Amino acid sequence: MTRINIAIDGYAGCGKSTLAKDLAKALNYIFVDSGAMYRGITLFLLEKAVDISNGEAVAAALSERPELTFAKGNNHLFLSGREVEGLIRGDQAVANKVSDVAALPAVRDYLKVQQEAFVAQKGVVMEGRDIGTVIMPAAELKLFITASIEERVKRRSNDLFERGKSVDDEAIRSNLQERDRKDATRAEAPLRKAEDAVAFDSTHFDRPGQLSAALAMARPLIDPEALLPFIQ
Ligand code: C5P
Repeated sequence: MTRINIAIDGYAGCGKSTLAKDLAKALNYIFVDSGAMYRGITLFLLEKAVDISNGEAVAAALSERPELTFAKGNNHLFLSGREVEGLIRGDQAVANKVSDVAALPAVRDYLKVQQEAFVAQKGVVMEGRDIGTVIMPAAELKLFITASIEERVKRRSNDLFERGKSVDDEAIRSNLQERDRKDATRAEAPLRKAEDAVAFDSTHFDRPGQLSAALAMARPLIDPEALLPFIQ
């Protein structure tokens, strides 16, 4: 049995986190939600009222080295020791600013070092926008997830509802589309499918169906002998 790394990228609200979390649990791997790290840094800058168009002010804030960690078990994000999961997901100010913050090279460099530290451990399922292209270019399995915009709005709306927030579907739709546009067109590590990534349209898959499809791709890479009966 080999421990592999799995990179999952795709547009906003396609269910990447759910799939990555389920895969990590099924394989007993580490799950890393890189989007949560970008949201955490966005919250950090918003709370300090840093002007994100001012590169020097952003660099000065990052020199305080805000610490981003995930709780074992529920994977909730901690920002310098404080649980911020509810704030990074439920606060529309974070959702509306995160793609501008993620376009800043100083922020990407800061988080890249931390994300690469996970990669070295192997047995990592990491999801985001540049995981297959920049953070884990050597990942044994790369998935690029898509889903229809209607399905993505529905999923995000349900997710917010479960967090006790009710956000208008039109506001969700424009946030998802605007983030995708910014993420795919920025100069630094833009969102794009790695050449060797498998495209996976999750629109018509439910949660268990999505997991079994991904496991069917991962298992032969983890245990090549499992394939032998099929190729003899
Ligand atoms: O995955 P999630 O939607 O929580 O990500 C929030 C934002 O963080 C994205 O819209 C994108 O701007 C940024 N991000 C990124 N690179 C990653 C992960 C997230 O730029 N690897």
